[in-house]
Amino acid sequence: MKVIVTGGAGFIGSAVVRYLIEETDWEVVNLDKLTYAADLTFLEPVSGDPRYQFERVDICDRAALEELFARHRPDAVMHLAAESHVDRSIDGPADFIQSNIVGTYTLLEAARRYWDGLAGARKRAFRFHHVSTDEVYGSLGPVGRFVEETPYRPNSPYSASKAAADHLVRAWHKTYGLPVVTSNCTNNYGPRQFPEKLIPLTILNAVAGERLPVYGKGENVRDWLHVEDHARALVLILRHGRIGEKYNVSADCERTNIAVVRRICAILDELLPDSPHRPHERLIAFVADRPGHDERYAMDSTKLRRELGWAPRFDFEDGLRQTIRWYLDNKGWADRIRAERYGGERLGLGGGHAAGTAVPAAQ
Ligand code: NAD
Repeated sequence: MKVIVTGGAGFIGSAVVRYLIEETDWEVVNLDKLTYAADLTFLEPVSGDPRYQFERVDICDRAALEELFARHRPDAVMHLAAESHVDRSIDGPADFIQSNIVGTYTLLEAARRYWDGLAGARKRAFRFHHVSTDEVYGSLGPVGRFVEETPYRPNSPYSASKAAADHLVRAWHKTYGLPVVTSNCTNNYGPRQFPEKLIPLTILNAVAGERLPVYGKGENVRDWLHVEDHARALVLILRHGRIGEKYNVSADCERTNIAVVRRICAILDELLPDSPHRPHERLIAFVADRPGHDERYAMDSTKLRRELGWAPRFDFEDGLRQTIRWYLDNKGWADRIRAERYGGERLGLGGGHAAGTAVPAAQ
């Protein structure tokens, strides 16, 4: 079995690649453009394995994709490559339209052409697994949870671009018969997440004694999933998910943003008894809300649990501690990211322009 993982140098994609090399006997081709969010050091534990290969390719480049499919002849594609940060999509939607919509379209076409050329058992066994988000469903009030049939109501340029990609994947199945499966997951956390996202930003700012920005009143609710539980779910869905179906992935772990930030502060107080910034909660600063900020996400993953037997292994408290320890133990990595790629400044107030967010060149 040989699988192409797109976005395999990102936060979730690299967890999937490590899982596949360490826990299965599959061959893995990591296909990634290496944007600001990518980091090949995440692959160091597996990059020496003969079953692992890296290809620097943009999913918008049709010719490069076709050459890659022809050369590697994969049995499956796991599609994770995307621009992934809501705030950046507010400041500069262009990159999101390009990579998430045009890129998914281009990848679907390259996969379809390759799949059309397969025959027999190989053709029947081929899968295209598209990885998406709960944000396509929009925002919930205080009650209820998203199910696979919940209508799409995306509110940010990011979620709209992911929703468009989900629709394209569905259409390529219905129209052309491409054997696809789609999964929509909740907010991921864990080691190696780029420090523009809530949990790593809060950890790094708190350690440095900088203010901890909390949008609005901090009462927005997110449903948290450890990245390693997600990686395990994705491989299960690729292996055993039914063609043309969607699967929601959630660990049933709803928390308000302010509760998460307070918990990080409390754990840091404990782990860093000599820090001059204790109690870290003093650093919390309520700042202007994100435009169009979704109030609450929560997902029902009964289908995944019942059909495929998945269950999360991480308890949120343990996962958060493990994550905080990773950032404390990898201060050199975090300092390098802050110096070279993102210094922690506020994003997402809509001050950008349609040409896309300027980000430093990839490695
Ligand atoms: P990430 O930003 O950490 O990584 C994305 C990766 O995709 C990077 O390595 C980047 O270089 C690559 N990439 C971007 N554009 C590309 C292009 N045009 N061609 C090739 N590679 C490209 O993102 P992540 O958090 O790991 O998310 C992975 C996937 O999971 C995304 O599709 C995202 O929408 C989805 N998702 C993420 C979360 C989350 O909480 N992080 C939640 C739900 C769904």
